[in-house]
Amino acid sequence: MLESDVKTRALPPDEVGVLVRQDKTRDDVLRHFLQLTTSLFHMPAGYISVLDDKTRNVIVSHQISMAPKPRQFTFCQYVVDTQKPVIVPDTLQDARFCEHPMVVGDPGLRFYAGMPLTFKNGCTMGTYCVVDTVPRDLTCDELASLTFIAELVSSFIESWLDVALTDLNSGLPNMHQLINDLQDESFAEECPGNSLMVIECIGVTQSDDIARVMGTSRLNTLVRDISQALLQVLQLSRCEKLYMLSAGRFALYSKPLTPSDRQRREQQLMALQAHLSDAVTIDLKIYVGETAITLPICSGHEILRQAESALYEARHNRLRWGIYNQDDDCRRNEDFYLLNDLTEAIRKDRGLYLVWQPKVSLPAGQPVALEALIRWNHPERGIIPPGSFLPLIENTSLMVELTDWVIDHAITQLAEWEQKGIALPASINISVLDLKRENFTQRLHDKMALAGLDNGMLGVECLETEKLLASSQVLEELRLLRQNGFSVSLDDFGAGYSNLNYLLRIPLDTIKLDKSLIDDLLKEPSRRVIVRNVIRMLKELGYRVLAEGVEDESTARIISDYACDEAQGYYFARPKTAEQLEAWLDKWI
Ligand code: C2E
Ligand code: CA
Ligand code: CA
Repeated sequence: MLESDVKTRALPPDEVGVLVRQDKTRDDVLRHFLQLTTSLFHMPAGYISVLDDKTRNVIVSHQISMAPKPRQFTFCQYVVDTQKPVIVPDTLQDARFCEHPMVVGDPGLRFYAGMPLTFKNGCTMGTYCVVDTVPRDLTCDELASLTFIAELVSSFIESWLDVALTDLNSGLPNMHQLINDLQDESFAEECPGNSLMVIECIGVTQSDDIARVMGTSRLNTLVRDISQALLQVLQLSRCEKLYMLSAGRFALYSKPLTPSDRQRREQQLMALQAHLSDAVTIDLKIYVGETAITLPICSGHEILRQAESALYEARHNRLRWGIYNQDDDCRRNEDFYLLNDLTEAIRKDRGLYLVWQPKVSLPAGQPVALEALIRWNHPERGIIPPGSFLPLIENTSLMVELTDWVIDHAITQLAEWEQKGIALPASINISVLDLKRENFTQRLHDKMALAGLDNGMLGVECLETEKLLASSQVLEELRLLRQNGFSVSLDDFGAGYSNLNYLLRIPLDTIKLDKSLIDDLLKEPSRRVIVRNVIRMLKELGYRVLAEGVEDESTARIISDYACDEAQGYYFARPKTAEQLEAWLDKWI
């Protein structure tokens, strides 16, 4: 064969990654190979390298230390490029190496013998090398022995890699193998597929729970049972392949799917449940994320990411099967980055600020209180309204951190205003999570005392009536807040849950009528009847009543006629920065 006919097959990047990672058992064996070889040939040192198209990494060395190097500055590149041994009897006599830093500098290499480490499929992964600091020759017998040892080392590494590309518990190929297959042109030629599915049989939280309660050995058995059952129910054709990504999470490489294929697969997955039911009493919630494999492949990792994205969407929407959709994917990715940015904004106090909306008395329209509302000036996107970022942190511990931020900044501002003679009480918006925190009231009290403020200067507004009612701890905390002089308002009344019987159980000072209740008062007489009676009844029950979202004079007049105590809305004042508010208040003094 002519030299030019040799077509070097590069090792897939994921395999390089697996090989470069240290593995004590493998590396001990390889080190013994090197010790044996160097002592057999009376050489001082040796090493084993792995090459990709940019870098030479040395995975094991004996009596020589070798850092990763760009491929083009190495001896080994010649071995991998030709897939043949390269013997350099005297480096100073070889134009390729005579000026090499390891020749002219430390350790002064004068002899190099590099053997290709080639796998059965023709890929040369790297080299098996012995080196000396004096020039020398290799006899034909020595070269033959060295070649033989290198072949042994290749077989050993190849078998090790097979194991590394297999999930040992189930015996299925693992994620690294999947990535290799997706990027392997010969695999695609043999098994043309254009769908990848990620099948989640056990979610991460569920697998954690099983491991915690039943132990990892039981989890392993369960996962093994599931993989066996999956193989049985899926009835894979020759060109379909099942992989194990993590405990209870599989990938299926498959031919293109028609809607009826999908239906069949779905039925098979439902059968899996029944199939396992004798042995397993755990309720499996199976979700599938599917993506098309479009050629040429961008990257195996990207295909897998798309299938994971489809799975996320399926799980989120409680659908059994999700198909990758770029718009959903982009939105979720944006949310993810936004959430990261928000975490930083809160923790580093960057870009967040409060605006203040006056609450006015009726009928005079005089400011009597303020509501603090959060704003976020994102470094790239500009001002983001709370409605776009608060849902991302709802029910997470970040919400509690955000409330802390709001409390601290609101108190600082109130103290500053008190110094300036502006004494309007303000309320902040809080969530049920905040009320569930230990000593919420006590800490709020301590902070107010530290700032020299009376508790009456601060109030809280809460939504989520149902959640308030569901927890006696939360109701107790509200009681405590009022006992300590903080005012408590119920936000968005009339927008959702409004069972008056239950309302009485929540300790409250003020009820804020939602904007949706106030809108269209002028146009709809029946609505006026409702609002008039709601206001009267709430007042008879002893609450102060505030109408939110008043945008025009006629609405203001109507609710004022109905004896509503206070109002808030663009008609009176939009939310304002502290500076703007001070200017606005000037006209009332
Ligand atoms: P919310 O507590 O019901 O606040 C009233 C919302 O209506 C505010 O929107 C306010 O700017 C807006 N608004 C006031 N008057 C009018 C009006 O006349 N017409 C219209 N169309 N809108 C008016 P914003 O500031 O975008 O806040 C939205 C929601 O985000 C708030 O609703 C509140 O639930 C939440 N939020 C805002 N700041 C915070 C905060 O610091 N912490 C928490 N936990 N939630 C907050
Ligand atoms: Ca509010
Ligand atoms: Ca509201």
